[in-house]
Amino acid sequence: MKAYLSVFLLSAALTAYMWRDTFDPESVRGTRVLITGASSGIGEQMAYHYSKFGAQIIITARRLEALKKVAQKCVKLGAKKMMYMTGDMSDPADPERVVKYAVEKLGGLDFLVLNHVGNSNVEFWNRDADHVRSIMQVNFVSYVQMAGAALPVLEKSAGSIIVVSSLAGKLASPFVAPYTSTKFAMNGFFGALQNELAIQKSNVSVSIMILGLIDTESAMNKIRGFTTMTAYPASEAALSIIKAGATRQKEAFYPWFHYFTCLINNIFPFVKDLMLAGLSMEKKD
Ligand code: NDP
Repeated sequence: MKAYLSVFLLSAALTAYMWRDTFDPESVRGTRVLITGASSGIGEQMAYHYSKFGAQIIITARRLEALKKVAQKCVKLGAKKMMYMTGDMSDPADPERVVKYAVEKLGGLDFLVLNHVGNSNVEFWNRDADHVRSIMQVNFVSYVQMAGAALPVLEKSAGSIIVVSSLAGKLASPFVAPYTSTKFAMNGFFGALQNELAIQKSNVSVSIMILGLIDTESAMNKIRGFTTMTAYPASEAALSIIKAGATRQKEAFYPWFHYFTCLINNIFPFVKDLMLAGLSMEKKD
């Protein structure tokens, strides 16, 4: 009994140490940041936080008017420099074009925040392989293209790549097979890149952010009728992502307890099977 208690206390102490907040907002002041998917949702909230910390920011997405509105608010919140540009990540030419523009306008780059996500329905897989191919371009290949274009510039500034991933990239999630595939691909690619950069003693960091359900309008609209899971605030999720990048964490979780969700799933995979056994739903055609 005593031994179990000691192991528990040691694990709790190690966990608290691992997750202590070492973020210094001053470390972000004046930094040059490119945020994708910032016309709404978590990307928009990240733009507001970076603005309050006095960063120099370029935001991108497809909708010009929405970007303009976000940019206006960023200026009011204290952004040192604020610009926006449209780009469609389903167009293979746009990821590199956007990075090139940002580097030219900001004179370099400190944080590349990859956050955009294309539209995917929440439903049983409908055997549409074309959708999987196109969503791979938006959610995954464009991330790889942007990282590739930015790496030489980030080497010069000892900068960081931040990728916004999901619990759906750790646990194969039903009803979102195409989306979950893109997030698994992202975790695999950027995990491998982290290791390659470490072997090369590179000064570029890669942070992979694993998010649970977040209360953005698009997510809430999609999951209605599929889950009663609690959704966590987009503004808090956005701040956690910024902190993970600024403190150069390799992998971070918001909410924090999803670290244990993943751990338990890996150690006891049958728990998921038990949960699925309790579900039954007919496919609608
Ligand atoms: P939103 O749907 O709110 O925002 C998506 C952003 O991506 C918008 O700014 C949208 O702008 C942009 N976008 C969509 N398609 C394209 C495209 N083809 N080219 C360029 N930009 C595009 O998403 P969230 O804020 O909810 O999600 C942000 C990130 O967090 C994503 O990576 C998502 O996977 C991840 N995440 C979210 C969770 C949640 O519950 N919300 C849970 C786990 C992870 P526009 O339409 O103007 O192009």
